[in-house]
Amino acid sequence: MAIERIEAFQVQWSPDDTAAQRSAFVRVWTDDGQHGVGEASPMQGGLASLGMIVHDIAPGLIGADPLDHAVLQDRLSHRLAKLGPEGALTGALAAIDIALWDLKGKLFDQPIYKLLGGAWRTALPFYASIGGNGVERTLDDVLRIIEQRMQDKPAAIKIRFDNGRVNLDADIPDHLEKARAVRRLVGDNFPLAFDANNGYSTGGAIRVGRVLEDLGYWWFEEPVQHYHIKAMGEVASKLSITVSAGEQTYTTGGLVELIEAGVRMIQPDIVKMGGITGLLRCAALAQAHGVELVSHQTQPMIGHVANLHVCAAQLHATKPCEWNDPSTRMHAVFDRPPFPVDGLFNLSEAPGLGIDFVESELQKRRIDL
Ligand code: CA
Repeated sequence: MAIERIEAFQVQWSPDDTAAQRSAFVRVWTDDGQHGVGEASPMQGGLASLGMIVHDIAPGLIGADPLDHAVLQDRLSHRLAKLGPEGALTGALAAIDIALWDLKGKLFDQPIYKLLGGAWRTALPFYASIGGNGVERTLDDVLRIIEQRMQDKPAAIKIRFDNGRVNLDADIPDHLEKARAVRRLVGDNFPLAFDANNGYSTGGAIRVGRVLEDLGYWWFEEPVQHYHIKAMGEVASKLSITVSAGEQTYTTGGLVELIEAGVRMIQPDIVKMGGITGLLRCAALAQAHGVELVSHQTQPMIGHVANLHVCAAQLHATKPCEWNDPSTRMHAVFDRPPFPVDGLFNLSEAPGLGIDFVESELQKRRIDL
C-alpha cells in the first residue's frame, strides 16, 4: 500500500460569502482507495501551508508507505527546513501527519487513541475559549457572551484579549475591569483563565498577573511577546499564578527554551507543529520536565478532534481541552461534528479520527489552490 494522491484545499466557513474565513484541509489517498483527513493552521486561510503541500511536500510522499508517517515528517522537515522552518511548513506537515494517523486508524480499524496506547478518558471536559474581549467589546457584551457560553457547561472559561501585539499595556485598565466583572459574574469558585495574547510589557504583565492572582484565575496565558522567551520566564517566575505559553512555538527545542526560562505550562498546537506525532513528542517532553501540557486548539473540526484523541491518551491532563467559539459554520461539511454533551466531548470508537467530510456539502464550500 502506498500514498497515491494528496488533495489540499480550503473550506469557506460560509458558502455564500467569498470573504468569509477559511480552514485549510488535506485528504491523503492510498493506491487501494482509502483516505485520511487532516488540517493545517488556518492563518491567512492556510494558503502558505497548502501551497507547500501541493508544490513541495506531496512530491516527497507519493509512493511512500503511509505507516511511515514519523519518518516522512522528519525527512521532509529537514529537507525543507529553509522554507521556514517554523509556521507554514510545520503547519503543512502537521496536516499530513493528522491525515496519515486517520488513515492508520482506518487501516487497523481502531480509533486513534487506541493506537496511542489507550485512553485515560474518552469523555473529555472542555473550557470555553472566548476571544475578542478587548476594547472592541463592551463590558456588558463580554458578560452576555459568557452567560451564553456557560450554557454549554464548560469546566472553565478563558477570556482572550487580542490587541494586535503592537500597543503594549495600553488597555490594561479595560482588561482588569473585565477580569473583575467576569469573576463576579461566575462566582468565586468557577475556574477562569486569562489570555493576554502577548499584549503586555514585562512590568505590565506582572501588574496584571497580581490582580489575576487576587481574583483566583487559574492561568495567565502569553502575557508578553512570544519571542521574548526570557521575559516570559521572568513573568512566570515572579508570579504565583501559572503562566502559560507555546502556541507560537513550532519545535520541541523551542518548547525546551520556554521551560528552561521558567514557563511551567506549555501549549503546543497540533495543527501548527507536528500533528499527532509531534504532540506526542511534546507530551513526553512535558512529562520529562515536570511541566503541564495543555494543548492549544481553536479549530472547530478536524484539529479539534485530533487534539481530543491525544488529550484522551495523555497521562497528566491537568486542565480541560480548549474549545473555541462555536458556531454552525462548517457542521454540515462533516459527518460527525463534535459537540459537547453535558459539558463533555465523547470520543467514538469509530476508526481513525472518527470524523469525515460529507462530500456533497464539501463541494459547495471547497476552494482548491
Ligand atoms: Ca492563546
